[in-house]
Amino acid sequence: MNNKRVNSGMTQVLYEDDAYTKECVAKVLECRERIKDTGKDEAKTVYGIVLDCTPFFPEGGGQPADKGVVILENNDVLQVFDVQKEDGVIVHYVSNPIEKGSVITAQLNWAVRYERMQNHSGEHLFCGLIHKLYGYENVGFHMSANCVTVDVNGVLTAEDFAKLEILANEGIDRNVAISAVYPDSPDELQYRSKLDLTEEIRVVLIEGYDACACCAPHVKTTGEIGLIKVMDFMSHRGGTRFTLKAGKWAREDYGILHEEIGQMMRLFSAKREACHLAAERVSRQMKEQQETITSLKKQITDLYRNQLKKAIENNPDNKCHVIFDASLDEVQMRTLINEGVLTAPGIVAGFAGTDDSGYRYIIGKNEAAEEPDLRAFAKEMNAALNGRGGGSIKMIQGSVTAKRAEIEAWLKDYQ
Ligand SMILES: [Zn+2]
Repeated sequence: MNNKRVNSGMTQVLYEDDAYTKECVAKVLECRERIKDTGKDEAKTVYGIVLDCTPFFPEGGGQPADKGVVILENNDVLQVFDVQKEDGVIVHYVSNPIEKGSVITAQLNWAVRYERMQNHSGEHLFCGLIHKLYGYENVGFHMSANCVTVDVNGVLTAEDFAKLEILANEGIDRNVAISAVYPDSPDELQYRSKLDLTEEIRVVLIEGYDACACCAPHVKTTGEIGLIKVMDFMSHRGGTRFTLKAGKWAREDYGILHEEIGQMMRLFSAKREACHLAAERVSRQMKEQQETITSLKKQITDLYRNQLKKAIENNPDNKCHVIFDASLDEVQMRTLINEGVLTAPGIVAGFAGTDDSGYRYIIGKNEAAEEPDLRAFAKEMNAALNGRGGGSIKMIQGSVTAKRAEIEAWLKDYQ
């Protein structure tokens, strides 16, 4: 077993020996032209650069490729937008060709890389503890822009996660060493393995916590992980899926939460720990108010129903009964019209609104009444009262921007 193995094909892989290598001067060994499907109509030509040494980690094992640039001898800077391992060779993708034999500087976006190292090491520490305490294996790993998603093949509860989080953060406090070794055979060392490794085995050790096959760069000590926070968990295929944030990502999340809770404290005039109680109180009040509103609406509908009923009884020859109200909603209005047309001899018209805002209308007609055809009626009324809307022969709906007096004057012809 040894602890230095740093070649990938013809490229010296610097992050395996020293994950803190931020840049290197390298010679271009190859420049591969590739047609890239952009997903749009046109395909794009890109160039895959093979170097004699690199600090760039290629996409693999659930971790995205490193970001960074290549600086040419004439100081031109090319973005490295992707890094892939192709047949064991690390290929850096850029948008312009670089001549074979050129000497360039390959430079990482170190901030992004370091955040990923913190999170990847944090995930190993956490999953090492899961394995130790519950014997579960890691069966899925995905790193996105600001969190890590992990699947394990066993059930974990909220209490389990609370305990694991405390232990993992204690592991950070202990600041133990993280290192990589290369066993000569798989039997030489006990380790967790989430990948079917076809290449030589690299095992990342966290002293006293974990041994796991992994090809990615890690921080040197657990202290650098800084902080581990479990964000969420759910049942997944008989096991558990959870998301973690470590290091800077966890700190940023803490900042967001602090800001959010500050807003809630101001909105609710509540103490920090009492925001949820204030939210519960507001929610309860809203529910009570909603019940009151529903009850009042029913009472208002009943009042109009009785009024309409009396009006129809007292004026059996009136061909047009009208309701005006500022607050009736569509459901109330429709209920009143639908019921009204059963006994009214002609049409029943409901107008909801005010002279300033205009009126929404629903107008219905008794089944037996021949006149008027409400579609024609709607056309005439819309023209006369600056309105819009329509419907069927028996029922129309729309709005007018006229005043109540104008509407009543226009409807007189139908009474
Ligand atoms: Zn790993």
